[in-house]
Amino acid sequence: MATKIPIERIRNIGISAHIDSGKTTLTERILFYTGRIHAIHEVRGKDGVGAKMDSMDLEREKGITIQSAATYCVWKGSKGQLEDININIIDTPGHVDFTIEVERALRVLDGAILVLDSGKGVQSQSITVDKQMKRYRVPRIAFVNKMDNPGANYERVADMLKEKLGHHPVKLQVPIGAEDKFEGIIDPIIGKAYYFDGEDGEKIREEDVPAEFVEKTKAAREEIVQQVADVDDALAEKFINEEPVSDAELRQAIRRATLALKMTPVMCGSAFRNKGVQLLLDGVVLYLPNPKEVLNEGHDQEKNEEKVALESDPSKPFVGLAFKLQQDKYGQLTYFRVYQGQVTSGDTIFNTSNEMRKVRVPRMFRMHSDDREEVKTAEAGDIVAFYGVEASSGETFTDGKVNITLTSMHVPAAVISLAIAPKDRNAETNFSKALNRFTKEDPTFRVHQDEESQQTIISGMGELHLDIYMERMRREYSCDVVAGKPQVAYRETITQKAPIAYTHKKQTGGSGQYAKIGGYIEPLPPDAVETYEFVDEIVGGSIPKEFIPACDKGFKEGIKKGSLIGFPVVGLRCVIDDGLHHPVDSSEMAFKTAALMGFREAYDKAKPTILEPIMKVEVEAPVEFQGSVVGQVNQRRGVIMETVSDENVTITAEVPLNTMFGYSTDLRSATQGKGNFTMEFARYSPVPKQEQEEMIKKYREQLAKEAAARK
Ligand code: GDP
Repeated sequence: MATKIPIERIRNIGISAHIDSGKTTLTERILFYTGRIHAIHEVRGKDGVGAKMDSMDLEREKGITIQSAATYCVWKGSKGQLEDININIIDTPGHVDFTIEVERALRVLDGAILVLDSGKGVQSQSITVDKQMKRYRVPRIAFVNKMDNPGANYERVADMLKEKLGHHPVKLQVPIGAEDKFEGIIDPIIGKAYYFDGEDGEKIREEDVPAEFVEKTKAAREEIVQQVADVDDALAEKFINEEPVSDAELRQAIRRATLALKMTPVMCGSAFRNKGVQLLLDGVVLYLPNPKEVLNEGHDQEKNEEKVALESDPSKPFVGLAFKLQQDKYGQLTYFRVYQGQVTSGDTIFNTSNEMRKVRVPRMFRMHSDDREEVKTAEAGDIVAFYGVEASSGETFTDGKVNITLTSMHVPAAVISLAIAPKDRNAETNFSKALNRFTKEDPTFRVHQDEESQQTIISGMGELHLDIYMERMRREYSCDVVAGKPQVAYRETITQKAPIAYTHKKQTGGSGQYAKIGGYIEPLPPDAVETYEFVDEIVGGSIPKEFIPACDKGFKEGIKKGSLIGFPVVGLRCVIDDGLHHPVDSSEMAFKTAALMGFREAYDKAKPTILEPIMKVEVEAPVEFQGSVVGQVNQRRGVIMETVSDENVTITAEVPLNTMFGYSTDLRSATQGKGNFTMEFARYSPVPKQEQEEMIKKYREQLAKEAAARK
């Protein structure tokens, strides 16, 4: 059984990067140098083994990392100078379609490495992830990778951190050469040069700084002192008084400023050529926080969600978060981060996000991608995995002494949907099982049954997002699916206030049905959090209290499908302020019907309009393709927001999702395969008038066809 490492020696970190910057390669090297794996396999390597962290076949094939797995390793320092440091690596996915995974990972980690390509610097995905890290106040180290590549430029990448991300970058290293002359790295703080010998760069050689770098090294140290002094008061005082700054003092100041998010240490290397990774790990220990140094807050459910700081103290009540579900070869795994107190296998814990449901803690493990190591107890700061604990990702568990939940995570709206069905009727059970599992794993993946067509509709963050799940169904659940055409998740809304006045009256033999309601519907302000609001302004009991909820239900029924194109109606308030009832003939059913019918009438008078998801698209391509890229964006009703060009052009545009189908193929052919793009939901916006009219016409025709078929 594993030994317990004190909290000061734990680092929970993420590694984030724009796709292809070398995140997988770097992670692989970290696992190698920390002794977690014994051989290096290149990503998409010739040996066909593939990097360890991409544990799902699918990821291996697509060459991208989709799921955030937590893996743990022990670092003893580049010179063996440290007592064991436990580094947990939370693998953050790089693709925007999976932002929810990134967000969840960010909730759990305390610090991060931002991997940047030495030639490309800050790219679109780095910007997105950096924004999220800011939101979660995650201190980060920038690692300028691929220093061996043609065009490598450490200084320029550091400048981009300032220009594009608004960081205060401080270069902590001096590369010895660049491109094919990249030989090693100087640490100017202590004035030593490092070279990485041996077949896999595992032998670190410390040398004096080469003569031609002595001046540069001195200047680099002075620059570090000055730049850190800009953001650290203690160091500033020494700097102003021109007192000497010791190595230890300087490192402490860097640590303080980094934890306070006032600066970003910039380091460099080449993961692929096995240079600099060990120094980066030293940097993680030196400059990124231990779990105790991070403020984590929960919401006390007993005190109206009042915020409470969670304390790392093991004697405090246990609070932990299930942040990731995963199926592995041994079964269903739930990853936990312990925020307060401790938990031991055999304990009973309670799900505060789900009515305090009781769960017995089974065996606990530290995970290493595919392998595992059993632990008896996990304390605040630890990341462990349980088998067989029923939970959804994002749920909080406690020991029952406190009723605290961790902040709910920001869940973006789904923008695309698809009808799916199992190819083979016999696979029905697995089909439902898979859908059930995926919705638990990923709150942005949603499933519902279309009432009319009885089809199963899945929806999510983009085409790739849904593709991945269909592929996983095939592989993990042996269930091939047939899918309809992807559909944009349109919405409908109203643009003006309209009155509701409806009487529902029916006499059928015995007792009849009677309900009359009055009120109005009106648009909600654009910044409203809710998409629907129900207001009861009835005075004097013209509609009896017991029938009020039925009115709400009737409206909710109404907004499920707007009359324009049958999509959900959002952004409106339904108010009732008048009505009539009958002592015998009124019923819940009657009021529900009156509200539904009243809503439908009012809706048509409230100038309804169709909304479509607008995506923020970033396209990058060699500059000679700028013309065709811009042409394609315009063709797709895109509005270009920004163009930045040097040898590459980066175009930021807002484009309706509806026009983005097939874009990756088109972009590839227009740029000889050299262009790539990322896409992220920006907001809903009205569809242009003419197009709306066509959409409405089509919908009416379809309804008529369906009606005819029923006859
Ligand atoms: P990820 O998409 O960020 O996970 O990037 P990968 O680790 O898959 O790397 C993308 C490509 O860049 C692969 O072909 C790697 O071999 C290559 N690569 C990674 N690190 C380096 C490096 O330091 N130097 C060079 N020249 N290539 C690298």
